[in-house]
Amino acid sequence: MNTPIADYHIHSKWSFDSESSLESIYEKAIQKGLKHIAITEHCFLVQEHMVQLLDRWGYVSNNGFNTDLDVLFGVELSLENKEIMWCLRNGVFGFWDIISGGVHGFEQYNLYPKEPISEYRNKFLMLPEKVEQLVRQYVAQTVTAINTGQLDVLVHPWDIFLLAGCTDQILLKLSHDLVKQAALHNTFIELNGGMLKNIYYLSAQMKINLEEFYVRFLQICSGYDVKFVYGSDAHEVDEIGVPNFLPAIKSKLRFAAHSELTQRTNERRNENEKLCIL
Ligand SMILES: [Zn+2]
Ligand SMILES: [Zn+2]
Repeated sequence: MNTPIADYHIHSKWSFDSESSLESIYEKAIQKGLKHIAITEHCFLVQEHMVQLLDRWGYVSNNGFNTDLDVLFGVELSLENKEIMWCLRNGVFGFWDIISGGVHGFEQYNLYPKEPISEYRNKFLMLPEKVEQLVRQYVAQTVTAINTGQLDVLVHPWDIFLLAGCTDQILLKLSHDLVKQAALHNTFIELNGGMLKNIYYLSAQMKINLEEFYVRFLQICSGYDVKFVYGSDAHEVDEIGVPNFLPAIKSKLRFAAHSELTQRTNERRNENEKLCIL
């Protein structure tokens, strides 16, 4: 396996839930031996947040950082909020080096785990008839985003279900629809650091074998020959970096080269320029 030396999912103080400065992120990444990183901020309230995110560019260029790292500046969109459509309509894709996106919850069902996981799980399991509906909604929203051709990385796939202890067969069945589309548009799938940690922590807590589910999901991905990127999802600098992978998947995954990510960025920029000329 080509072990990734890149972490493509780091939050800085430009995300509402992190306080990490860019300087401290660079320092930690170099310390951890990384060559490439991506700083991907949340974008939950697009209009308000966008101004702030553009301010990050100003900060970066005014400070003229000199680092050996390749740094991509991007966003982590919430696919259920249709943020990707907002970005499309407003022509801001050209701003980002990397566009990540994942489903973070279904607000109408109040299912994102704000409360302790065990209570969350009970609430979720009280609604078994909703599970299939939610899984289908998850896939539909993700596929819509992938089909725009702008989604570079699908982050923490299925995590809102796994956090709730839901590993219903329907998730694996519909994984095929999800991953087939990702392969078609060359959207990379994230191996998420938070999820890897949770697999051990939550499996013990919930007495559910999340590792088995995750490995089977990753095997489906490998079957479609999609490529992976690693993302720690670090909200604090100590979380930055690439941990040991699950032994069962260690040798099976193909990771995207950094040049494959920058190629997507360049194509997007060219596309945007063409649109501007028209
Ligand atoms: Zn996320
Ligand atoms: Zn994140």
